[in-house]
Amino acid sequence: RHKKAVDIDPLFEQLKKGNISALSQAITLVESTAGEDIAFAKAILSKALPYSGKSFRLGITGVPGVGKSTFIEALGSSLIATGKKVAVLAIDPSSSISRGSILGDKTRMEELVKSDQAFIRPSPAGTTLGGVARKTREAIILCEAAGFDFIIIETVGVGQSETAVHSMTDFFLLLKLAGAGDDLQGIKKGIMEMADLIVINKADGENRTAAKHAQREFRNALHLLHPKNHGWSTKVITASGLKQEGITDVLEQIEAFQSHSNTDNSIEKQRNQQEIYWLHQTIEDRLKSEFYGRPEIEQRLNELEQQILLKKMTAFEAADRLLDRG
Ligand code: GDP
Repeated sequence: RHKKAVDIDPLFEQLKKGNISALSQAITLVESTAGEDIAFAKAILSKALPYSGKSFRLGITGVPGVGKSTFIEALGSSLIATGKKVAVLAIDPSSSISRGSILGDKTRMEELVKSDQAFIRPSPAGTTLGGVARKTREAIILCEAAGFDFIIIETVGVGQSETAVHSMTDFFLLLKLAGAGDDLQGIKKGIMEMADLIVINKADGENRTAAKHAQREFRNALHLLHPKNHGWSTKVITASGLKQEGITDVLEQIEAFQSHSNTDNSIEKQRNQQEIYWLHQTIEDRLKSEFYGRPEIEQRLNELEQQILLKKMTAFEAADRLLDRG
């Protein structure tokens, strides 16, 4: 028997009114890999697309335990208090293995969980970052069509997930800890370059002095980097998600960024660049997986590897042969 067909029109009408369960259902469709859901997912996305794009998209990253959930709870609650509707989505490329153990702790988002101005969705499962990223980008569109004007995308600093989040958000916030091995020494330079704001978190109690010290260190390190291409200068501030301190400073930075962007449309430009990036990224992913997925390629590749190891052929010659160019 056929599964009952989804009635897209009424579902979308409900979603557009901001109905949370319609939004959840639509995201579930988009996340589904079942053949019969794919057409429905496409249909609802194309209905949502014209209503998307009006939110502010905020990326937040930091190592496990840096205080992301607590911080998002504090920031989200402040936003809600000003009448904003906040959606929190997560990207965890390892979620298919560890089932949400890295980003899964939503109990620290108590206020957000019970507010009807908030929507929290854990990371979609997936085997590839590309797959997870695509589902998250589609979820952003659906959340925006549902009237959420602030979308927070959370990730841990695992593999390329930070780059993925950076490539789908307007503003990228990096949470750091003073000391505890999560300081300047351990930071990837690329991450510093991506950040629009660095927040030294847990700056409370005995931690305050160390946080101020880390703030100075990060400021100095930032001076050595090239300024961001759209003329925004990244600040380093201290905050405490737990004590809800420094949250106003974060909101001020975001507002400053927005008005800075208004002068030259840089958010719009950045989003356009991101679309083109995802186009090329998706083409690359598909070509690669189709190529390596071909049985004859797999076998030929094995043979060529042997040839290389036996020094009968260089790697380049082998590649040329595999690609029929030798
Ligand atoms: P996440 O893994 O990055 O999401 O971190 P959590 O928000 O789950 O927090 C990890 C631990 O740090 C928990 O025990 C929190 O209570 C604690 N924590 C989070 N934020 C702060 C903070 O601002 N100050 C202090 N002192 N502890 C915090």
